[in-house]
Amino acid sequence: MNHHGSCLCGGVRYALRGELGKITLCHCAQCRKAQGGAAVAAAPVKAAEFEITAGAELLRAFESSPGKERVFCSRCGSPIYSRRPAEPDFLRLRLGTLDTPVGKTPAAHIWVSDKADWDDICDGVPQYAGFEPGRAVPPSCGD
Ligand SMILES: [Zn+2]
Ligand SMILES: [Zn+2]
Repeated sequence: MNHHGSCLCGGVRYALRGELGKITLCHCAQCRKAQGGAAVAAAPVKAAEFEITAGAELLRAFESSPGKERVFCSRCGSPIYSRRPAEPDFLRLRLGTLDTPVGKTPAAHIWVSDKADWDDICDGVPQYAGFEPGRAVPPSCGD
């Protein structure tokens, strides 16, 4: 196992046998509301390498935009991952739920055009008004 994680209440636990993909920090309004913070830190993982090891019955999904669901623990509210049923091969894992070190730095701030006015991004990570270059998804938040 390369990584494992859990929700705030500990009811939901997961294991990841593969690697985290490119880490993005999404500042769009949907992600801000879903996290209650300035951004969501997410990375794609292969669905075949991701396993819910406890608490699957606690998970609920909210379709925050057509064809895109945010999956969270119904007991404590922790966001765990998002998914697009049309793209079943991967999930976008919420990195704040990892209990293991991530071991790499974010690749991009995305949807900076939609960031909170109090959010002053001052690290050296590249910033993009929308998605990072190379992502092929609809023109709304994909995280
Ligand atoms: Zn929980
Ligand atoms: Zn977003």
